Amino acid sequence: MNSSISERIVTIRSSLPTSVRLIAVSKQASAQAIRSAYAAGIRDFGESRIQEAASKQAELQDLPDITWHFIGHLQSNKAKKAIEQFPWIHSVDNLKLAQRLDQLAQQLGVSPQVCLQVKILPDPTKSGWSVPELLADLPTLNQYKNLQIQGLMTIPPSGLNDPEILNVFNLNRELAKEIQELNWSHIKMQHLSMGMSGDYELAVQAGATMVRLGTILFGDRS
Ligand SMILES: *Cc1c(COP(=O)(O)O)cnc(C)c1O
Repeated sequence: MNSSISERIVTIRSSLPTSVRLIAVSKQASAQAIRSAYAAGIRDFGESRIQEAASKQAELQDLPDITWHFIGHLQSNKAKKAIEQFPWIHSVDNLKLAQRLDQLAQQLGVSPQVCLQVKILPDPTKSGWSVPELLADLPTLNQYKNLQIQGLMTIPPSGLNDPEILNVFNLNRELAKEIQELNWSHIKMQHLSMGMSGDYELAVQAGATMVRLGTILFGDRS
């Protein structure tokens, strides 16, 4: 890619509805690249490794209005750091992790915003709830009052064609609506975190409220 980070951001931003939050996925990107994106107006950054994020966050402390989003698979032993470093966690992918995060949030006196990661289609390569598992766990999740459950995150299995990907995103939106209509006291479904560099246009078409874009902004990762 020959265009600069800021040019790419301007182009993509202008193609997105204003209601869609653009999360710049900066994993493997340098603090300097994050500064360029920041200068182009990005305030939401996504990282998938706690350790890698920590060093960049330390380097970027002079940019206090960044909102950091954790988007990777979170191991239980890193849950505390995740809550300390990230106000948003998109990848809460099982009940045990949710319970742990809720306990830690209470101890730390914070209330992180989270998305529940769901596998709309079976996918052995990813973590996340299956749809029936998620529906069964909702009464328990509703008791985790230190978490602000904001919606669903999904990643389609690889190898699907565009209509199939669109279908996954549409099903995710319908699932969120179905959950919302059950009127939980502590589960909100106002956000759909879906869409990456290769499929974000389909995700937006299906109603994504947050897209997570890495490669298309920062270039290929090694
Ligand atoms: C890496 C990653 C992204 C960004 O992927 P790109 O294809 O580079 O846009 C989005 N979401 C998650 C969960 C990721 O791990």
